[in-house]
Amino acid sequence: MTEKMLKFVHLEQKYPHKREASARRTDFNEIYEPFEDSSAADQSSRCSQCGVPFCQAHCPLYNNIPDWLSLTTAGRLEEAYAISAATNNMPEVTGRICPQDRLCEGNCVIEQSTHGAVTIGSVEKYITDTAFANGWVKAPKPTKENGMSVGIIGGGPGGMAAAEQLRLKGYEVHIYDRYDRIGGLLVYGIPGFKLEKDVVERRVKLLEEGGVVMHTEFEVGRDATLDDLRKKHDSVLIATGVYKARDLKLPGAGLNNVYPALEYLTTSNRQGLGDNVPAYDDGTLNAKDKNVVVIGGGDTAMDCVRTAIRQGAKSVKCLYRRDRANMPGSQREVANAEEEGVEFVWLTNPEAFVGDDKVTGVRAIKMRLGAPDAGGRQSPEIIEGSSYTMDADMAITALGFEPEDLPTLFDAPELGVSRWGTVKIDFRSMMTNLDGVFAAGDIARGASLVVWAIRDGRDAADRIDEYLLARKEAAA
Ligand SMILES: Cc1cc2nc3c(=O)[nH]c(=O)nc-3n(C[C@H](O)[C@H](O)[C@H](O)COP(=O)(O)OP(=O)(O)OC[C@H]3O[C@@H](n4cnc5c(N)ncnc54)[C@H](O)[C@@H]3O)c2cc1C
Ligand code: SF4
Repeated sequence: MTEKMLKFVHLEQKYPHKREASARRTDFNEIYEPFEDSSAADQSSRCSQCGVPFCQAHCPLYNNIPDWLSLTTAGRLEEAYAISAATNNMPEVTGRICPQDRLCEGNCVIEQSTHGAVTIGSVEKYITDTAFANGWVKAPKPTKENGMSVGIIGGGPGGMAAAEQLRLKGYEVHIYDRYDRIGGLLVYGIPGFKLEKDVVERRVKLLEEGGVVMHTEFEVGRDATLDDLRKKHDSVLIATGVYKARDLKLPGAGLNNVYPALEYLTTSNRQGLGDNVPAYDDGTLNAKDKNVVVIGGGDTAMDCVRTAIRQGAKSVKCLYRRDRANMPGSQREVANAEEEGVEFVWLTNPEAFVGDDKVTGVRAIKMRLGAPDAGGRQSPEIIEGSSYTMDADMAITALGFEPEDLPTLFDAPELGVSRWGTVKIDFRSMMTNLDGVFAAGDIARGASLVVWAIRDGRDAADRIDEYLLARKEAAA
């Protein structure tokens, strides 16, 4: 294959939507599409085995990417899977939703030489989907039970990764989650068009087959205190994520049809899962035929605008107070959203939600970027007299998430938290200030990424194991 052809294969696989840019609204081209054996081999063979694996160094799991690419090129997929799974509890998930442009692929030397990165995420997904199809992915069954138990609060990727690692080491593992399904934001936050729900369910089933006990609709704080769980288990891991939406304190914020992002996305995900969702069916939390305004410039805002487009919104606008170059969300997601028909209104800040009972508009004001602040980032400044109102039948606020007040919720005022509300841990031991209580994922590091939650879950499992074995030895 010539260099030019290779580049085309790469572009097609990385940006499959480019082929049918005009097929908007009724025929969505998702981030990935079926990836055949030949494409995987083509992509993996592009790895130059450069000897300086920047891709690996920029993967939070330090995945052995060059080795599994090389094995894929050779068609040795079962071995490629074994190497990939050795450092990652859900490569089929990270392959789909890691922001690869900021992590492994963004640091591929081929990308640096302007030839376009090897599509590492697609190959990772392909290897693991093939492994599932061939029965190579096994439930985590220990060779020997060790007689100790760990309670994990939160069944998101952090809790799931820790559960698998601990189960393999022989612990009895219980996951407690207030949702009715295990998976956390993998199920109820991230839209199905980025991560299919059966991909998450498949992992949950494996954990159950391996003996992990799931307690769904069990809210710590309501159904048990932290202390209750400490008494029941030898150790407890807090992996509850961050769920408190940042408020937008504007006039009219209490009007009907102004929603926080997660409420909107959870409703949409439940509907996609086939649940009975009256708020979707009666049109309340459904963007169909509505003018939708989403406020925010992060990845959650991108998920909202793209969901609204898929629900058949009349128009979808995304308001962000800085410009495109300074938005926090992935540029790849912005490009996807634009192609699907989303209008980005850069350098614009909302001033008020307008309407009597329901929202009918968003009053906004134009901004310009002023002098850089202490961190070097240009601060947005208001352009006086530039206010105007745009139509809105639904407004969604996507301004990020903060931790809930866990010491109060868990009836554990002694639990140490940072000034941002994240659970304080010693990053070497992953332990909180309470003996035998550990924390991992977003609740310890603040809103982050799935791959970091997996990293934390694995690290916490190792530290819990060390702690409990040392305690057992001391007691012997
Ligand atoms: C809309 C959205 C889109 C995102 N998209 C991406 C993406 O594309 N790629 C990416 O890498 N990251 C993405 N993220 C971030 C990613 O989802 C999180 O970083 C990751 O899920 C954190 O994992 P976690 O295990 O720490 O917490 P979570 O996934 O939040 O799981 C925490 C679990 O704890 C449970 N819980 C909370 N409190 C209690 C309690 N008191 N009792 C019992 N259970 C409790 C919750 O029900 C939940 O199931 C996205 C986030 C959002 C909000
Ligand atoms: S886990 Fe994420 S960063 Fe690491 S190799 Fe996979 S896609 Fe890249």
